[in-house]
Amino acid sequence: MDLAGLTSIFPRDRVELEPEQLARFRDDITDADPRVPGAVVRPESVEEIQGLVRWASEHSIPITPRVANQNVGGLAIPEEGGVVVDFTRMNRILEFSRDDMYAVIEPGVTQEQLKGYLEAHAPELRIGYSLAPPDTSVLLNCLMDGLTNYSLRIGSMSEAILGLEAVLHDARVIRTGAWGVGPVPYGRPPLPDLTGLFIAWLGTTGIVSSGVLALWPKHPLRERLFILAQQLDATFAMVKRLVRLEICDDLGVLTWPTGRMMMGVERPGIERADGEPVCFVYLDISAETRAEMDGKIVAARRVLAETGAGGLLTGPLFVADLVTALPEMVKYSDFPTDLDFLTKSRGGGMTWVGTYGPMSTIAACCQACMGRMVEHGFPPAVVCRAMKTGHFAVLRFLEVFDRSNPDEVARVRKLNLELFDLAIAYGYVQYKPPLSVLPKLHAKMDPATLQTMREIKKLLDPRGIFCPSNLGLMG
Ligand SMILES: Cc1cc2nc3c(=O)[nH]c(=O)nc-3n(C[C@H](O)[C@H](O)[C@H](O)COP(=O)(O)OP(=O)(O)OC[C@H]3O[C@@H](n4cnc5c(N)ncnc54)[C@H](O)[C@@H]3O)c2cc1C
Repeated sequence: MDLAGLTSIFPRDRVELEPEQLARFRDDITDADPRVPGAVVRPESVEEIQGLVRWASEHSIPITPRVANQNVGGLAIPEEGGVVVDFTRMNRILEFSRDDMYAVIEPGVTQEQLKGYLEAHAPELRIGYSLAPPDTSVLLNCLMDGLTNYSLRIGSMSEAILGLEAVLHDARVIRTGAWGVGPVPYGRPPLPDLTGLFIAWLGTTGIVSSGVLALWPKHPLRERLFILAQQLDATFAMVKRLVRLEICDDLGVLTWPTGRMMMGVERPGIERADGEPVCFVYLDISAETRAEMDGKIVAARRVLAETGAGGLLTGPLFVADLVTALPEMVKYSDFPTDLDFLTKSRGGGMTWVGTYGPMSTIAACCQACMGRMVEHGFPPAVVCRAMKTGHFAVLRFLEVFDRSNPDEVARVRKLNLELFDLAIAYGYVQYKPPLSVLPKLHAKMDPATLQTMREIKKLLDPRGIFCPSNLGLMG
């Protein structure tokens, strides 16, 4: 196929066809197999996306959109010989309503960009920030059902999407939610909601050209507290109590290897030192007044005292004290930040099994999966967050590895498949599933549900042009 035809849709300087340039788009930081695209294009308008989709449908050429390629699942790796749609130039904030608390943004708008915009135009409003690098896309985080430091309040980030604009396989442009009917895109109700056709579908149903993002009140006072824990059961007993107080914006648990990596240890090993906390917990609390903040801290201290008797839990430490003691922690005191100990490790590789599941089994699941990581010779690095007032939680088991070492890559792959099996037995379901896990995921799914997903895929993508490998729904 002559991909040079793309220059009839895009100016020549926004089409890449040279092999050495294309090679940069072949992989990501995970263990996913590389695939080299035949072209890369950089749209700047909805009309250009429509032209591309028409062309791709006509020639049955797969297209794979992306922004920063940091999804940690190989999900923006193109099909071999296909077209990468690099959305970094579609990064406009198209509309902003302080009154109705939303912003209409293009896929290329990044975390640091939106943060800067809000600080300048509406310091009383905020979004949720993920732990992903500052140059990653806000909208894609929501479309992938990701999580942020506001997920304890709202759940996974698709909850922040009030409506979407998407280009379908026949180049028609649709708008979902109230955006499809009235002048103000205030939310998804009350008409049948098509937004879900683009959430967690990982680019397989159409190209999202912009989205309406909910903004949330940002209270002027903010504290981040740390608690050190000697035991997982006590930790999660405390977490379960704290979330129901509804005093925290965010609440996370990081196990000891994650903590060591944050302090600069590249490979933390599998042995915990005597007396080293098994994990530490952070709480983000915000308030309108000092009295309100003090009241919330008193409530948190009470839960800590009740669940951490016998020295199982110590704290709270305030972030200012922690930074005085450990100045290297300052970069983690505000988000977004660059977790370069993960993204720029010596071996260049980082991957994880990220799962959502119920609070009721969290301690057992975490314990079992940490044990399995150690059995495979990997430090039990886990990041956990309570979501949606404790209706569910995230457990993310992460591995830093050497991409140039085939043995280590093989061990990572084996471990991750085992972690999938182990976690799902506790009700923890892997999100953003990479290709390697799809056979297991499909085997676990209700067959009628899987069949319905295949039919929706066929309906929305009859020529198989939208990220055909993702979710494994073709054929
Ligand atoms: C160190 C680190 C920490 C992270 N922490 C978090 C975290 O706390 N929470 C979290 O949720 N994630 C986290 N991530 C994962 C990821 O970085 C985020 O989800 C981020 O939002 C992805 O943005 P991106 O620009 O890299 O997306 P990309 O990887 O470029 O794309 C993501 C997906 O979106 C699809 N897509 C791209 N454009 C479109 C479009 N226009 N229409 C439809 N589909 C499209 C792509 O095909 C792909 O499947 C982290 C990643 C790293 C490296």
